[in-house]
Amino acid sequence: MADLKKNIQYVKGVGEARAKKLNKLGIYTLEDLITYYPRDYEDRSKIKKIAELQDGEKCSIEGIVVTSLNVRMLGRYKSIEKVIIRDETDNCMVTWFNQPYIKTQIKKGETYRFFGKMSIKNGVKELNSPVFEPISQNNKTGKIVPVYPLTYDVKINEIRKIMQNGLDLVGNFEEVMPRYILDKYNLIDYDKAIKQIHFPVDFESFRKARRRLVFDELFTMQLGLLKLKAENNEEIKGIKYDENVNMSDVINDLPFKLTKAQLNVLEEINSDMEKERPMNRLLQGDVGSGKTIVAMIAAYKAVKSGYQVAILAPTMILAKQHLDNFEKILGKYGIKCEGLVGGMTAKQKRLALERIESGEANIVIGTHALLEENVNFNKLGFVVTDEQHRFGVKQRSKIIAKGENPDVLVMTATPIPRTLALILYGDLDISIIDELPPNRKHVETFAVSKKLETRINEFVKKEIEKGRQCYVVCPLVEESEDPEAPKLKSAVELAEEYKTKIFPNFKVECLHGKMKAKEKDEIMEKFKNKEIDILVSTTVIEVGVDVPNASLMIIENAERFGLAQLHQLRGRVGRGEYKSYCILKCNAVNDIVRERMEIMTKTDNGFTIAEKDLELRGSGDFFGTKQHGIPEFKIANLFQDMEILKEVQSLAIHIIGQDENLEKEENKPLKKLVEKKFPSNVEITI
Ligand code: ADP
Ligand code: MG
Repeated sequence: MADLKKNIQYVKGVGEARAKKLNKLGIYTLEDLITYYPRDYEDRSKIKKIAELQDGEKCSIEGIVVTSLNVRMLGRYKSIEKVIIRDETDNCMVTWFNQPYIKTQIKKGETYRFFGKMSIKNGVKELNSPVFEPISQNNKTGKIVPVYPLTYDVKINEIRKIMQNGLDLVGNFEEVMPRYILDKYNLIDYDKAIKQIHFPVDFESFRKARRRLVFDELFTMQLGLLKLKAENNEEIKGIKYDENVNMSDVINDLPFKLTKAQLNVLEEINSDMEKERPMNRLLQGDVGSGKTIVAMIAAYKAVKSGYQVAILAPTMILAKQHLDNFEKILGKYGIKCEGLVGGMTAKQKRLALERIESGEANIVIGTHALLEENVNFNKLGFVVTDEQHRFGVKQRSKIIAKGENPDVLVMTATPIPRTLALILYGDLDISIIDELPPNRKHVETFAVSKKLETRINEFVKKEIEKGRQCYVVCPLVEESEDPEAPKLKSAVELAEEYKTKIFPNFKVECLHGKMKAKEKDEIMEKFKNKEIDILVSTTVIEVGVDVPNASLMIIENAERFGLAQLHQLRGRVGRGEYKSYCILKCNAVNDIVRERMEIMTKTDNGFTIAEKDLELRGSGDFFGTKQHGIPEFKIANLFQDMEILKEVQSLAIHIIGQDENLEKEENKPLKKLVEKKFPSNVEITI
């Protein structure tokens, strides 16, 4: 077996120039090459009869050439080549462009196999630019041919050839998985799987090959994550919080009753906090399920046990809102809260930093500013990151490093099906708040096309006249936006239109990401104080903002948002006592958009929505897996392969349960696989 680390340049047919192009596809080594899996296949294996072909069909046919090749020059470099071929059912024209050299390759009276696209116009059959070869060969036709995802300026045929050369160079691939697993799960050998994934002899072998490779990929990932988690569980000594500090002191003082789900989660957190090993917990709960109060009560316990707490929020607006809430509820227990956000004056910042360093500030709430190097804590023991999906992996570890193995609570409103959560957050324990507070209102949701604009505006007017407020959300317009695409209005343009044309009598303001933090704050404050009727914004308001008087949300170009995101946005209304509405305005409507909007109007369960979204969009788009720091999958598709995922999860749990360090003889190959995917010199925190 050739060395899989071999530079791609030395594979037959590559060379220096082509190697550079392949590098652009992420292919540097022989191994990268052979794991560059096809995106699709072209079935050239079924030979069809000319008489049975349909217009537009891609097909293989075998036919005898009945005319000599006619080359018609159309100027110096342009030409058309034509022959007529025949099989026992019918005849058809075959046409190429600018390939006069075909003359030497095709002979009247001989039979060839062609693969191309048939066009039938007014009964005239014409096969366009097919590949072809004598029927004694099957290099290009007569078989299933891989289609690779991206090829840049390497031609697809060249990649196919290089791939074949790469496979030939390797010869026989060593088995990487223990035999007992292959047998138990009925998996084909690695050697066969790799070869068949590129050049399957039929679709059954393709399916077997794919199953094997998906299994490997998901299983290795799962094993690695469970191993990480097991390691986290034992070695590190964290903080053991005071058993005599009772969360119920705060709970009993609250103006509302916690839900059963909130109480359960608090119990889990409390028990984690009282243990010596550091807590690493993901708290998942739909928008409005009341995660903040949970964090607050946990923070109370940490502070009263003598530690500082850091709360990391994704936006300034949210940090500010948290600060207000924390002060309101925890202030009376003598707990001091400090805000730290960008946009503070130098003096404000210096004083805040001093109070943080001296320990005078018990709870520090801030944005990214918290991560800066000059922020020193006195005794940081508890870290909360809110809306984790906004933070990169690195950022979490940065804040954690400011304490001494602090307990960590990661909160997210992105509802992730549990199986996926296990993959994405394999190193965390998971708590779920699966119940909304009883006073929560169902948000009536409508999907409408732009045509109904006048009626929508009428409706907005009525709501505002009743004293309510309205959000208008539009998608972020990227500067690199396709110039051909129908022009989208930016938040600024839209706000202008609302202000001057549609609602000149109402107070309209605009909020967008490029504004200064201070301006954003002022506007949000005004909106909270009912000084603004209509707030036009980009998705800056997506996370966390609480304005109970806002009862209406209009989402412009709703088709451009992910469902999970729409659901988050919608969670901004229906927070007060008023009946609330969400109107999804769609510009471009097709079947998928229709289906997606229907899901939004029919369900308000974040988990159901997330699953559907995943189903319709695939996992790639779902939450930008890259952001989560997990390696991208080369072949697995988290939705399509849910069954395999479940299989490997229980297998991995079983194996790690019995042989945590993968030291048993039979599991040694697994250890190798995991080490390859999770090299110990690379820090992986998710
Ligand atoms: P999210 O989980 O989306 O972050 P929040 O923590 O912002 O939700 O809670 C939304 C609102 O619900 C807040 O105003 C909060 O005070 C309130 N709330 C939280 N828990 C309860 C409860 N058990 N009963 C009533 N209201 C609650
Ligand atoms: Mg929140």
